[in-house]
Amino acid sequence: MDLKRTIIDLMPGPLVRTFASPYIAGKGIGAGVAKADDLHSKLGIYSTVDLLAEEVFSRKDVEATVQIYLRMVEALKDRPFASISLKPTSLGINESEAYCQENLRRIVAAAAQHGMHITLDMEDRHFTDVTLRMFKAIRNEFDNFGIVLQSRLFRTTEDIKALHAKPCKVRICIGIYREPADVALQDKADMKAKLFEHVQLLLDHGHYPEIATHEESLIHRCMEYLDKRGVPKDAYEFQMLLGVPRTEMQKEIVKRGQIVRLYVPFAEDWKYAVHYLKRRLAANPAMAVMVMKNMFGS
Ligand SMILES: Cc1cc2nc3c(=O)[nH]c(=O)nc-3n(C[C@H](O)[C@H](O)[C@H](O)COP(=O)(O)OP(=O)(O)OC[C@H]3O[C@@H](n4cnc5c(N)ncnc54)[C@H](O)[C@@H]3O)c2cc1C
Repeated sequence: MDLKRTIIDLMPGPLVRTFASPYIAGKGIGAGVAKADDLHSKLGIYSTVDLLAEEVFSRKDVEATVQIYLRMVEALKDRPFASISLKPTSLGINESEAYCQENLRRIVAAAAQHGMHITLDMEDRHFTDVTLRMFKAIRNEFDNFGIVLQSRLFRTTEDIKALHAKPCKVRICIGIYREPADVALQDKADMKAKLFEHVQLLLDHGHYPEIATHEESLIHRCMEYLDKRGVPKDAYEFQMLLGVPRTEMQKEIVKRGQIVRLYVPFAEDWKYAVHYLKRRLAANPAMAVMVMKNMFGS
């Protein structure tokens, strides 16, 4: 285990909370809803609301998580500017694919009644195949279901080509998990160049790219390309994380009449949020440095 990982594991909960606070709407569904309302009414920004949770193992905990998601659907159902994001590890994948798929299906079906979109987040490479299989099975039945693909993975180009016959919303990002050199690009500039290619490929295949990056030069490159290609403004969007300081960039996107959507996580219980955040920090220790820079302006 490397030193950075050990330091993150030893970090006390309150310190992790301090690190995380700019990125989290607060405690409880109400905090997520209030943040989504605030972003939309004040800035014209859309949200995808997510429950911060640790990997869930027991059926009892999985069911509790499903119930929270069903309550989120109820709480957000009259807000066309809000969608929901969720993760297989919170919804039963550790027990079985069939069980997880049924849990996902229940949430997607509930959201479909209100025309609300659900995005299936992508976790590390060990989950890519199963996540895509569950996505495709549920997408056959419901249109309000989208997925995430990670440009750093070599397989992603083929995954886009094999995605689905029906157009899908696809969040395309570099991927937060560090992956080995036999399966993934190692250099960030290469990952971002690949993301740009993937945006084009998604459009070629009729999909709706959700371009998730904070790299302003990449956002501008995508904007130029989308304009030149004449892609309608309701055929793609830009996505960023709550808390990453990109206010001017977000204003510029909104001013251009394009959608910008923020990932808005809330915590039901800080205990779970702290575990989850440690996992994210361990997956990408560089994030801790970015947070420090953001907090102290260095
Ligand atoms: C809406 C959304 C959903 C996502 N969903 C997934 C997912 O399902 N699966 C997955 O693997 N990854 C997901 N990610 C993470 C994504 O893959 C990247 O890890 C993350 O966006 C950073 O990549 P970047 O393109 O912004 O480039 P970077 O080079 O990492 O960031 C560019 C700049 O943005 C700033 N920045 C970026 N991230 C942070 C941060 N956390 N804190 C402070 N400053 C920051 C820094 O100034 C940095 O220099 C998601 C990202 C977004 C925006």
